[in-house]
Amino acid sequence: MIQLRKSWKITATLVLFLFLTACQLVRVDNADENKQKQKQSTPPPPPKVTVSAIGDVMMHEPQIKSGKTGNTYDYRKFFKSVGPYLSSTDLSVANLEVTLAGPSKPYQGYPQFNAPDQILDALKDSGVDVLTTANNHSNDTGEKGVIRTFNTAKKKGFHVTGTAPSPNERKGIVVDKNGIKLGFLAYTEHTNGLPVAKGKSYLVNLIDPVKIAADIKALKQQGAEFVFVSLHWGTEYQRTPNEFQKKTALKVLQAGADVILGSHPHVQQQVEKMVVNGQEKLVVYSMGNFISNQSDPYTDLGVIMYFDIMKDPKTNKVKLTKTSFLPTLVDKYKKGGKTEYLVVPLPTKTPSNPAANPRITKKKWEKSYNDVHSIITKADSFPVMVNK
Ligand SMILES: [Zn+2]
Repeated sequence: MIQLRKSWKITATLVLFLFLTACQLVRVDNADENKQKQKQSTPPPPPKVTVSAIGDVMMHEPQIKSGKTGNTYDYRKFFKSVGPYLSSTDLSVANLEVTLAGPSKPYQGYPQFNAPDQILDALKDSGVDVLTTANNHSNDTGEKGVIRTFNTAKKKGFHVTGTAPSPNERKGIVVDKNGIKLGFLAYTEHTNGLPVAKGKSYLVNLIDPVKIAADIKALKQQGAEFVFVSLHWGTEYQRTPNEFQKKTALKVLQAGADVILGSHPHVQQQVEKMVVNGQEKLVVYSMGNFISNQSDPYTDLGVIMYFDIMKDPKTNKVKLTKTSFLPTLVDKYKKGGKTEYLVVPLPTKTPSNPAANPRITKKKWEKSYNDVHSIITKADSFPVMVNK
């Protein structure tokens, strides 16, 4: 009898459990249906893309040595603090100011740079996607160096613009990110007096407003909806743009560029908003060095520029919705007979965690932060000030 009552109890519990589970399933089904209905009625969010850009990536002799480990090189340590500030954006652009002519030539720094390929692994590891290679050092190891640098970067998965092994590859790149097609072009004012191989002007893009205008037009025909033009120009160590930069900026923006990314002076220069044909455009005259062994005033400072870009779902127009920036500082120090380098992000006016960067004094941190801020926001027309 006891046995029977027990089995009744079990059966009743089982029936109740199945009933409740069924109710649960119905409820889940309804929730799914509601979600589906909601999906159909609310339009998808507008396509957005975030882009970060940094200045000159240089590799002077002591930097080359710094990464030597046995028979190979590793430079990932340079960017371990700052990497997350680049990889957090959808796309990151850097100016590679060295050539990669390979180990058959000696690795060397200034004046004719030949860096180990591993600098690219370090940049890739930090989230850099696009390399601009048009600068006064592009031709440091001649035609072979230009071609090897381009091919090595492509093999490692970078988008490359500014130098090219063929006329067709010279004409810029279009990168489709989150449904927005971004165009990138790069040019340099000169190649330090080292002539580019005769009849092969495609090897290094030189600044020529007429050519730039034609390239922008062609890139837009290929589908580019927002165009970044990198210009390697200006006077070294000058914190103010010169007349050539100002005139060229206007011409390039009039030709259809949306943002100019400047570098070469090794120090920062202002960011300015220019209104061209009723449209707001932006010129970053110089981002300065991202990493180098230079020691002149302000050459240890860098800036990461951030651009938020959106496609208006009604007009399909792509526009810049926000610009911000982050100062950086190269922490250079001696360890075990070597010089070590660490690019330190300065997100706050004063160090929030001094123990994390014991070699940077409070005074140095604050001065560096202010030096970058005061220059970047110098122009009255600086567009938006939101710090990352
Ligand atoms: Zn340069």
